[in-house]
Amino acid sequence: MKTPIYLDYQATTPVDPRVLEAMLPYFSDVFGNAASRSHAFGWTAEEAVETSRAQIASLIGASAKEIVFTSGSTEAINLAIKGVCDMYGSRGKHIVTCQAEHKAVLDTCKHIEKEGFEVTYLKPDKTGRVSVEDVRAALRDDTILVALMWANNEVGTIHPVREIGALCKERKILFFTDATQAVGKIPVDVEADHVDLLCLSGHKIYGPKGAGCLYVRRRSPRVRLVAQMDGGGHERGMRSGTLNVPGIVGLGAACAVAEADLDKDREHSNALREAFEKKVLGSLDHVVINGDVEHRLPGCSNLSFPYVEGESMIMGIKDLAVSSGSACTSASLEPSHVLQAMDVGDELAHSSIRFGFGRMTTSEQVDFAADQVIEAVKKLRELSPLYEMVQEGIDLSTVQWQGGH
Ligand code: PLP
Repeated sequence: MKTPIYLDYQATTPVDPRVLEAMLPYFSDVFGNAASRSHAFGWTAEEAVETSRAQIASLIGASAKEIVFTSGSTEAINLAIKGVCDMYGSRGKHIVTCQAEHKAVLDTCKHIEKEGFEVTYLKPDKTGRVSVEDVRAALRDDTILVALMWANNEVGTIHPVREIGALCKERKILFFTDATQAVGKIPVDVEADHVDLLCLSGHKIYGPKGAGCLYVRRRSPRVRLVAQMDGGGHERGMRSGTLNVPGIVGLGAACAVAEADLDKDREHSNALREAFEKKVLGSLDHVVINGDVEHRLPGCSNLSFPYVEGESMIMGIKDLAVSSGSACTSASLEPSHVLQAMDVGDELAHSSIRFGFGRMTTSEQVDFAADQVIEAVKKLRELSPLYEMVQEGIDLSTVQWQGGH
Protein backbone atom coordinates (compact mmCIF):
# COMPACT_ATOMS: atom_id res chain seq x y z
CA MET A 1 0.00 0.00 0.00
CA LYS A 2 1.22 3.47 -0.88
CA THR A 3 1.97 5.59 2.20
CA PRO A 4 -0.52 8.44 2.28
CA ILE A 5 0.53 12.06 2.70
CA TYR A 6 0.37 12.96 6.35
CA LEU A 7 -2.02 15.87 6.92
CA ASP A 8 -3.05 15.21 10.49
CA TYR A 9 -0.68 17.42 12.48
CA GLN A 10 -3.27 18.11 15.20
CA ALA A 11 -3.44 14.39 15.97
CA THR A 12 0.30 14.03 16.35
CA THR A 13 3.58 15.11 14.76
CA PRO A 14 6.72 13.26 13.70
CA VAL A 15 9.71 13.65 16.01
CA ASP A 16 12.02 16.35 14.66
CA PRO A 17 15.47 14.93 13.81
CA ARG A 18 17.06 17.51 16.16
CA VAL A 19 14.86 16.23 18.96
CA LEU A 20 15.63 12.59 18.23
CA GLU A 21 19.35 13.31 18.25
CA ALA A 22 19.08 14.94 21.66
CA MET A 23 17.12 11.98 23.05
CA LEU A 24 19.19 9.06 21.77
CA PRO A 25 21.99 9.03 24.38
CA TYR A 26 19.43 8.85 27.17
CA PHE A 27 18.17 5.40 26.18
CA SER A 28 21.45 3.57 26.72
CA ASP A 29 24.62 5.59 27.47
CA VAL A 30 23.07 7.97 29.97
CA PHE A 31 20.45 5.73 31.50
CA GLY A 32 20.52 6.77 35.16
CA ASN A 33 17.47 7.32 37.31
CA ALA A 34 17.09 11.07 37.81
CA ALA A 35 16.13 10.38 41.42
CA SER A 36 19.38 8.53 42.22
CA ARG A 37 21.25 11.01 44.37
CA SER A 38 24.25 8.89 45.27
CA HIS A 39 26.14 8.53 41.98
CA ALA A 40 27.04 10.19 38.69
CA PHE A 41 24.50 8.18 36.64
CA GLY A 42 21.71 9.81 38.60
CA TRP A 43 23.30 13.25 38.61
CA THR A 44 23.72 13.27 34.83
CA ALA A 45 20.13 12.20 34.29
CA GLU A 46 18.93 14.83 36.75
CA GLU A 47 20.95 17.49 34.97
CA ALA A 48 19.29 16.57 31.66
CA VAL A 49 15.86 16.72 33.29
CA GLU A 50 16.62 20.18 34.70
CA THR A 51 17.82 21.40 31.30
CA SER A 52 14.52 20.27 29.83
CA ARG A 53 12.55 21.99 32.59
CA ALA A 54 14.33 25.25 31.75
CA GLN A 55 13.71 24.82 28.01
CA ILE A 56 9.98 24.29 28.53
CA ALA A 57 9.76 27.17 31.00
CA SER A 58 11.49 29.48 28.54
CA LEU A 59 8.97 28.69 25.79
CA ILE A 60 5.97 29.60 27.97
CA GLY A 61 7.46 32.38 30.10
CA ALA A 62 7.50 30.33 33.30
CA SER A 63 10.26 29.48 35.74
CA ALA A 64 11.75 25.98 35.70
CA LYS A 65 10.43 25.10 39.17
CA GLU A 66 6.88 25.57 37.91
CA ILE A 67 7.10 22.63 35.50
CA VAL A 68 5.76 19.23 36.64
CA PHE A 69 6.48 16.37 34.26
CA THR A 70 3.65 14.03 33.29
CA SER A 71 3.01 11.39 30.65
CA GLY A 72 1.23 13.92 28.45
CA SER A 73 -1.66 16.34 28.45
CA THR A 74 -4.35 13.89 29.50
CA GLU A 75 -2.54 13.19 32.75
CA ALA A 76 -1.72 16.86 33.27
CA ILE A 77 -5.39 17.77 32.76
CA ASN A 78 -6.47 15.18 35.32
CA LEU A 79 -3.87 16.47 37.78
CA ALA A 80 -4.86 20.10 37.27
CA ILE A 81 -8.63 19.72 37.58
CA LYS A 82 -8.81 16.96 40.18
CA GLY A 83 -5.83 18.41 42.05
CA VAL A 84 -7.52 21.84 42.33
CA CYS A 85 -10.85 20.31 43.33
CA ASP A 86 -9.25 18.21 46.05
CA MET A 87 -7.18 21.14 47.34
CA TYR A 88 -9.71 23.98 47.15
CA GLY A 89 -13.03 22.11 47.30
CA SER A 90 -13.73 23.48 50.77
CA ARG A 91 -13.73 27.05 49.31
CA GLY A 92 -16.24 26.33 46.56
CA LYS A 93 -17.56 23.60 44.36
CA HIS A 94 -18.15 25.32 41.03
CA ILE A 95 -16.08 25.07 37.85
CA VAL A 96 -16.49 26.71 34.46
CA THR A 97 -15.46 25.04 31.22
CA CYS A 98 -16.69 24.83 27.62
CA GLN A 99 -18.65 22.25 25.64
CA ALA A 100 -15.98 22.20 22.93
CA GLU A 101 -13.10 21.13 25.20
CA HIS A 102 -11.09 17.98 24.56
CA LYS A 103 -12.59 14.82 26.05
CA ALA A 104 -9.76 14.72 28.57
CA VAL A 105 -11.21 17.89 30.14
CA LEU A 106 -14.87 16.99 29.65
CA ASP A 107 -14.51 13.50 31.10
CA THR A 108 -12.48 14.80 34.04
CA CYS A 109 -15.26 17.32 34.69
CA LYS A 110 -17.82 14.51 34.55
CA HIS A 111 -15.73 12.69 37.15
CA ILE A 112 -15.65 15.60 39.59
CA GLU A 113 -19.38 16.16 39.11
CA LYS A 114 -19.86 12.72 40.63
CA GLU A 115 -17.88 13.96 43.61
CA GLY A 116 -20.27 16.81 44.28
CA PHE A 117 -18.83 19.60 42.11
CA GLU A 118 -21.00 21.62 39.77
CA VAL A 119 -19.68 22.35 36.28
CA THR A 120 -20.94 25.02 33.89
CA TYR A 121 -20.29 23.99 30.28
CA LEU A 122 -20.24 27.21 28.26
CA LYS A 123 -21.60 27.05 24.75
CA PRO A 124 -19.18 28.48 22.19
CA ASP A 125 -20.36 30.71 19.36
CA LYS A 126 -20.64 29.48 15.77
CA THR A 127 -16.88 29.82 15.31
CA GLY A 128 -16.08 27.80 18.42
CA ARG A 129 -15.10 30.81 20.50
CA VAL A 130 -16.08 31.72 24.04
CA SER A 131 -16.02 35.41 24.96
CA VAL A 132 -14.78 36.93 28.17
CA GLU A 133 -18.36 38.11 28.79
CA ASP A 134 -19.60 34.51 28.57
CA VAL A 135 -17.06 33.52 31.20
CA ARG A 136 -17.85 36.53 33.41
CA ALA A 137 -21.56 35.72 33.33
CA ALA A 138 -20.88 32.15 34.44
CA LEU A 139 -18.71 33.02 37.45
CA ARG A 140 -20.21 32.59 40.90
CA ASP A 141 -19.03 33.22 44.44
CA ASP A 142 -18.20 29.54 44.77
CA THR A 143 -16.30 29.24 41.45
CA ILE A 144 -12.81 27.90 42.13
CA LEU A 145 -11.59 27.14 38.62
CA VAL A 146 -12.03 28.15 34.99
CA ALA A 147 -10.78 25.45 32.62
CA LEU A 148 -10.66 26.61 28.99
CA MET A 149 -8.45 25.38 26.20
CA TRP A 150 -6.12 27.81 24.46
CA ALA A 151 -6.90 26.53 20.99
CA ASN A 152 -9.32 23.90 19.80
CA ASN A 153 -7.91 20.69 18.34
CA GLU A 154 -10.70 20.15 15.81
CA VAL A 155 -11.32 23.57 14.32
CA GLY A 156 -8.25 25.48 15.54
CA THR A 157 -10.23 28.32 17.11
CA ILE A 158 -8.18 30.34 19.60
CA HIS A 159 -9.97 31.69 22.69
CA PRO A 160 -9.33 35.20 24.08
CA VAL A 161 -7.05 33.67 26.71
CA ARG A 162 -5.41 36.86 27.92
CA GLU A 163 -8.72 38.58 28.67
CA ILE A 164 -10.13 35.48 30.36
CA GLY A 165 -6.92 35.13 32.39
CA ALA A 166 -7.15 38.76 33.51
CA LEU A 167 -10.78 38.28 34.53
CA CYS A 168 -9.93 35.19 36.59
CA LYS A 169 -7.05 37.00 38.24
CA GLU A 170 -9.27 39.93 39.16
CA ARG A 171 -11.87 37.55 40.62
CA LYS A 172 -9.19 35.44 42.38
CA ILE A 173 -10.30 32.30 40.55
CA LEU A 174 -7.72 29.85 39.26
CA PHE A 175 -7.34 29.65 35.47
CA PHE A 176 -6.27 26.41 33.83
CA THR A 177 -5.72 26.26 30.09
CA ASP A 178 -5.21 23.18 27.97
CA ALA A 179 -2.56 24.60 25.64
CA THR A 180 -1.77 21.28 23.95
CA GLN A 181 -2.49 22.65 20.48
CA ALA A 182 -1.23 26.18 21.07
CA VAL A 183 2.22 25.82 22.60
CA GLY A 184 4.94 25.92 19.98
CA LYS A 185 2.49 27.20 17.34
CA ILE A 186 1.61 30.65 18.68
CA PRO A 187 3.18 32.79 21.43
CA VAL A 188 2.26 31.66 24.93
CA ASP A 189 3.29 33.59 28.02
CA VAL A 190 1.87 32.49 31.34
CA GLU A 191 2.66 35.87 32.94
CA ALA A 192 1.24 38.20 30.29
CA ASP A 193 -1.70 35.83 29.75
CA HIS A 194 -2.45 35.41 33.49
CA VAL A 195 -2.43 31.63 33.43
CA ASP A 196 -2.22 29.64 36.69
CA LEU A 197 -2.11 26.12 35.27
CA LEU A 198 -1.29 24.99 31.73
CA CYS A 199 -0.68 21.65 30.07
CA LEU A 200 1.35 20.76 27.01
CA SER A 201 2.34 17.55 25.28
CA GLY A 202 5.51 16.48 23.48
CA HIS A 203 3.95 14.65 20.56
CA LYS A 204 2.05 17.69 19.31
CA ILE A 205 5.24 19.74 18.97
CA TYR A 206 7.61 17.37 17.14
CA GLY A 207 8.64 15.70 20.38
CA PRO A 208 8.04 12.18 21.68
CA LYS A 209 4.75 10.63 22.72
CA GLY A 210 4.26 9.89 26.41
CA ALA A 211 5.98 13.06 27.63
CA GLY A 212 4.21 16.23 28.69
CA CYS A 213 3.91 18.55 31.63
CA LEU A 214 1.76 20.74 33.78
CA TYR A 215 2.80 24.31 34.54
CA VAL A 216 1.83 25.14 38.12
CA ARG A 217 2.15 28.80 39.13
CA ARG A 218 4.32 29.33 42.21
CA ARG A 219 3.89 33.05 42.85
CA SER A 220 0.87 35.36 43.05
CA PRO A 221 -0.88 33.14 43.62
CA ARG A 222 1.04 30.04 44.67
CA VAL A 223 -1.13 27.21 43.34
CA ARG A 224 -1.27 24.03 45.37
CA LEU A 225 -2.54 20.73 44.12
CA VAL A 226 -3.38 17.42 45.70
CA ALA A 227 -1.34 14.75 43.90
CA GLN A 228 -3.36 12.18 42.00
CA MET A 229 -0.68 9.51 42.06
CA ASP A 230 0.78 8.21 45.31
CA GLY A 231 4.36 7.05 45.44
CA GLY A 232 7.89 8.30 45.87
CA GLY A 233 7.03 11.99 45.99
CA HIS A 234 8.76 12.94 42.73
CA GLU A 235 8.12 16.35 41.16
CA ARG A 236 7.88 18.06 44.55
CA GLY A 237 5.21 15.61 45.59
CA MET A 238 2.86 16.50 42.76
CA ARG A 239 3.51 13.54 40.49
CA SER A 240 5.17 10.40 41.77
CA GLY A 241 6.84 7.98 39.40
CA THR A 242 10.33 7.54 37.95
CA LEU A 243 10.90 10.22 35.36
CA ASN A 244 10.92 9.27 31.68
CA VAL A 245 14.34 10.82 31.06
CA PRO A 246 14.62 10.28 27.27
CA GLY A 247 11.06 11.52 26.81
CA ILE A 248 11.69 14.54 29.01
CA VAL A 249 14.92 15.37 27.16
CA GLY A 250 12.94 15.15 23.90
CA LEU A 251 10.17 17.35 25.25
CA GLY A 252 12.71 20.00 26.29
CA ALA A 253 14.52 19.83 22.96
CA ALA A 254 11.19 20.11 21.11
CA CYS A 255 10.37 23.25 23.12
CA ALA A 256 13.79 24.75 22.39
CA VAL A 257 13.37 24.12 18.65
CA ALA A 258 9.80 25.44 18.76
CA GLU A 259 10.95 28.62 20.48
CA ALA A 260 13.74 29.21 17.96
CA ASP A 261 11.54 28.38 14.94
CA LEU A 262 8.17 29.72 16.10
CA ASP A 263 7.86 32.51 13.53
CA LYS A 264 9.24 30.38 10.71
CA ASP A 265 6.94 27.46 11.54
CA ARG A 266 3.94 29.73 11.87
CA GLU A 267 4.53 31.41 8.53
CA HIS A 268 5.14 28.06 6.84
CA SER A 269 1.95 26.45 8.17
CA ASN A 270 -0.14 29.52 7.49
CA ALA A 271 1.11 29.81 3.93
CA LEU A 272 0.32 26.14 3.28
CA ARG A 273 -3.15 26.47 4.72
CA GLU A 274 -3.86 29.59 2.71
CA ALA A 275 -2.72 27.96 -0.51
CA PHE A 276 -4.82 24.88 0.23
CA GLU A 277 -7.99 26.77 1.09
CA LYS A 278 -7.58 29.13 -1.83
CA LYS A 279 -7.37 26.27 -4.27
CA VAL A 280 -10.17 24.17 -2.73
CA LEU A 281 -12.58 27.04 -2.18
CA GLY A 282 -11.74 28.45 -5.59
CA SER A 283 -12.65 25.19 -7.34
CA LEU A 284 -15.64 23.94 -5.33
CA ASP A 285 -18.84 25.67 -4.36
CA HIS A 286 -20.59 25.44 -0.98
CA VAL A 287 -17.41 24.66 0.97
CA VAL A 288 -17.51 25.99 4.53
CA ILE A 289 -14.55 26.76 6.78
CA ASN A 290 -15.32 25.65 10.33
CA GLY A 291 -13.72 27.72 13.07
CA ASP A 292 -12.75 31.32 13.53
CA VAL A 293 -10.83 32.48 10.48
CA GLU A 294 -9.43 35.47 12.38
CA HIS A 295 -8.38 33.56 15.47
CA ARG A 296 -7.20 30.23 14.15
CA LEU A 297 -4.21 27.99 14.72
CA PRO A 298 -1.72 28.02 11.88
CA GLY A 299 -1.86 24.86 9.82
CA CYS A 300 -5.37 23.83 10.85
CA SER A 301 -8.09 23.76 8.23
CA ASN A 302 -11.43 22.21 9.09
CA LEU A 303 -13.67 22.20 6.04
CA SER A 304 -17.20 20.97 5.46
CA PHE A 305 -18.24 19.75 2.05
CA PRO A 306 -22.03 19.81 1.98
CA TYR A 307 -23.73 17.11 -0.08
CA VAL A 308 -20.79 14.80 0.55
CA GLU A 309 -20.63 12.49 3.54
CA GLY A 310 -17.43 12.77 5.61
CA GLU A 311 -16.72 9.05 5.67
CA SER A 312 -17.17 8.69 1.90
CA MET A 313 -14.80 11.62 1.53
CA ILE A 314 -12.16 9.91 3.66
CA MET A 315 -12.52 6.85 1.42
CA GLY A 316 -12.34 9.08 -1.66
CA ILE A 317 -9.07 10.69 -0.60
CA LYS A 318 -7.19 7.57 0.41
CA ASP A 319 -3.83 9.11 -0.49
CA LEU A 320 -4.27 11.67 2.27
CA ALA A 321 -4.06 10.92 6.01
CA VAL A 322 -6.65 13.28 7.46
CA SER A 323 -9.24 13.19 10.18
CA SER A 324 -12.99 13.61 9.94
CA GLY A 325 -12.99 15.99 12.89
CA SER A 326 -12.99 13.73 15.89
CA ALA A 327 -16.27 12.35 14.65
CA CYS A 328 -15.15 8.81 14.40
CA THR A 329 -13.20 8.36 17.57
CA SER A 330 -15.64 5.52 18.12
CA ALA A 331 -17.50 3.23 15.81
CA SER A 332 -20.53 5.48 16.10
CA LEU A 333 -21.26 8.05 13.47
CA GLU A 334 -22.10 10.72 15.99
CA PRO A 335 -21.07 14.10 14.67
CA SER A 336 -18.19 15.70 16.52
CA HIS A 337 -19.15 17.24 19.87
CA VAL A 338 -17.19 20.38 18.94
CA LEU A 339 -19.13 20.99 15.73
CA GLN A 340 -22.36 20.16 17.56
CA ALA A 341 -21.54 22.70 20.27
CA MET A 342 -20.88 25.26 17.52
CA ASP A 343 -24.34 24.53 16.06
CA VAL A 344 -23.00 24.09 12.55
CA GLY A 345 -25.87 21.74 11.73
CA ASP A 346 -25.85 18.05 10.90
CA GLU A 347 -25.12 18.44 7.19
CA LEU A 348 -21.92 20.40 7.82
CA ALA A 349 -20.89 18.35 10.85
CA HIS A 350 -21.18 15.06 8.96
CA SER A 351 -19.24 16.34 5.98
CA SER A 352 -16.36 17.90 7.90
CA ILE A 353 -12.71 17.01 7.43
CA ARG A 354 -9.73 18.35 9.35
CA PHE A 355 -6.56 18.97 7.34
CA GLY A 356 -3.45 19.65 9.39
CA PHE A 357 -0.25 21.07 7.92
CA GLY A 358 3.02 21.31 9.80
CA ARG A 359 6.79 21.68 9.79
CA MET A 360 7.44 18.76 7.44
CA THR A 361 4.59 19.45 4.99
CA THR A 362 5.67 20.67 1.56
CA SER A 363 3.79 22.90 -0.85
CA GLU A 364 3.84 20.08 -3.43
CA GLN A 365 2.00 17.87 -0.94
CA VAL A 366 -0.56 20.58 -0.31
CA ASP A 367 -1.08 21.09 -4.02
CA PHE A 368 -1.57 17.37 -4.54
CA ALA A 369 -3.94 17.21 -1.56
CA ALA A 370 -6.07 20.06 -2.89
CA ASP A 371 -6.34 18.33 -6.29
CA GLN A 372 -7.38 15.07 -4.65
CA VAL A 373 -10.02 16.79 -2.54
CA ILE A 374 -11.45 18.68 -5.49
CA GLU A 375 -11.64 15.53 -7.60
CA ALA A 376 -13.20 13.44 -4.83
CA VAL A 377 -15.84 16.03 -3.95
CA LYS A 378 -16.80 16.51 -7.59
CA LYS A 379 -17.17 12.75 -8.05
CA LEU A 380 -19.19 12.24 -4.87
CA ARG A 381 -21.45 15.16 -5.62
CA GLU A 382 -22.28 13.65 -8.98
CA LEU A 383 -23.90 10.85 -6.98
CA SER A 384 -25.73 13.18 -4.62
CA PRO A 385 -29.42 13.79 -5.33
CA LEU A 386 -29.32 16.70 -2.90
CA TYR A 387 -26.55 18.40 -4.81
CA GLU A 388 -28.47 17.89 -8.03
CA MET A 389 -31.49 19.57 -6.50
CA VAL A 390 -29.38 22.50 -5.33
CA GLN A 391 -27.89 22.83 -8.80
CA GLU A 392 -31.42 22.92 -10.18
CA GLY A 393 -32.19 25.81 -7.86
CA ILE A 394 -34.52 23.92 -5.54
CA ASP A 395 -34.59 25.45 -2.07
CA LEU A 396 -33.90 22.44 0.16
CA SER A 397 -35.57 24.05 3.16
CA THR A 398 -38.90 23.78 1.33
CA VAL A 399 -38.52 20.06 0.67
CA GLN A 400 -40.63 17.67 2.76
CA TRP A 401 -38.29 14.95 4.00
CA GLN A 402 -39.40 11.36 4.43
CA GLY A 403 -37.96 10.12 7.70
CA GLY A 404 -34.75 11.45 9.10
CA HIS A 405 -32.25 13.37 7.05
N1 PLP B 1 -5.95 18.31 24.77
C1 PLP B 1 -5.96 18.59 23.46
C2 PLP B 1 -6.50 19.91 23.00
C3 PLP B 1 -5.47 17.67 22.54
O1 PLP B 1 -5.48 17.95 21.24
C4 PLP B 1 -4.97 16.42 23.03
C5 PLP B 1 -4.51 15.39 22.09
O2 PLP B 1 -5.25 14.87 21.31
C6 PLP B 1 -4.98 16.18 24.41
C7 PLP B 1 -5.48 17.15 25.24
C8 PLP B 1 -4.44 14.91 24.98
O3 PLP B 1 -3.04 14.94 24.93
P1 PLP B 1 -2.13 13.67 25.19
O4 PLP B 1 -2.16 12.87 23.94
O5 PLP B 1 -0.78 14.23 25.47
O6 PLP B 1 -2.68 12.95 26.37
